[in-house]
Amino acid sequence: MAENRTTPAPNLTELLAARPAFSMHAQDGLCFENVPLNAIADAHGTPTWVYGAASIRARHAALSAALQAQRLNVRVHYAVKANDHLAVLDIFRGLGAGADVVSLGEFLRTQRVRIAPGEVVFSGVGKARGEIAATLQAGVGQLNVESREELEMIASVARLQGRIARVALRMNPDVDAGTHAKITTGLADNKFGIPAADIPELYAHAAGLDGIEPVGIALHIGSQILNPAPYEQAYAKAAAMVRYLRAQGLSVSVLDLGGGLGIGYGDEPGISLPAYAAVLRREVGGLGVRLMVEPGRSLVGPAGLLLASVLLEKHSAAKRFIVLDAAMNDLLRPALYDAWHGILPVNATALHGPCASADVVGPVCETADCFAAGRQLPPMAAGERVAILDAGAYGAVMSSSYNARPRVAAVMIENGRAHLITPRQPVAALWAEEAIPR
Ligand SMILES: *Cc1c(COP(=O)(O)O)cnc(C)c1O
Repeated sequence: MAENRTTPAPNLTELLAARPAFSMHAQDGLCFENVPLNAIADAHGTPTWVYGAASIRARHAALSAALQAQRLNVRVHYAVKANDHLAVLDIFRGLGAGADVVSLGEFLRTQRVRIAPGEVVFSGVGKARGEIAATLQAGVGQLNVESREELEMIASVARLQGRIARVALRMNPDVDAGTHAKITTGLADNKFGIPAADIPELYAHAAGLDGIEPVGIALHIGSQILNPAPYEQAYAKAAAMVRYLRAQGLSVSVLDLGGGLGIGYGDEPGISLPAYAAVLRREVGGLGVRLMVEPGRSLVGPAGLLLASVLLEKHSAAKRFIVLDAAMNDLLRPALYDAWHGILPVNATALHGPCASADVVGPVCETADCFAAGRQLPPMAAGERVAILDAGAYGAVMSSSYNARPRVAAVMIENGRAHLITPRQPVAALWAEEAIPR
């Protein structure tokens, strides 16, 4: 199991040391933002998502500081798909961030927390006519267009409404982001974006279309990118495109640089934000366009964890299994992307105990329901808790009720207190809206 894991896996002490928002107390056990996780589990049960508001704000501040250090004025549009909980979106509204959405549902979530519609960008490879109509009607700030067909559809909807849709063309820069195949989006054979060679003609066409105002270029090359080099290549191509379009007499005022900033899932650092900001300044800082970025994972991933309990330890001839009450239906990333997540025992004694190899698995009837293979962990008694780290992004949003497992609870730590932000779904809610034909 290794999504970008080329270095040896860190041990428990190293995992903890790399995460200043966590601390281990002899009595209280593992704390996140100074709240004991055992207290959260006692109050709300497990599995439970735990998000730290201070951690989210700190990650936004670090990105803003790196951009400001380069004297760059860049709008941050939080990619809602990473974690669309209203409590998370409300933090970004409070920080003055805009949003990047990929569906009408996500757009309506942003409106529920009163993010200004003009600060929302609608991206995504397939937008339904109804989604375009509803977001335009509500005053969405920008639509990122992924094909000629979509451009025509947006134009016709806008004309019907008597509005002008502001669009950016999403260019596929054909660079390899060096990330997992399932999260690479900027290669020529991915489904995303418009080939660079087709952009000038389409942009000129858009400029002449009733109902459309082409404002600029967008790109997004993939996710969990740890190295600034692919950004450098992609942004250089974007800058060249902006210059070329302008040379054709076309107006370009926006450059949407996408997201994809990678985080450290082990004890390695995430992408260097100062290095990323320096690339941005060097490649696109002098274009005189309004710059925007759309990070998701890097703003919320490390600010969340999945708190789970050990159901039992099971031993076969060759293997030791730790079976949790959480499963792949809650956190899909290990099964979907071979993602590596740190797992810390919540009890202090366990942290320093002797470790042995174990597979950490969930109770779902799938071999893929495995959070970690061959992980060094201490003996775990039934009822002990573990924290599955860095689950704030692409965690709860991807969960399902497979195996008739209800959606789990979520808690947010705000001002040093744990607030229940999603109650555990009652099991009967799973079939409450189902009907049997008679
Ligand atoms: C998913 C996505 C993002 C966010 O990606 P992260 O890796 O979470 O930063 C940004 N923009 C677009 C268009 C996306 O599809």
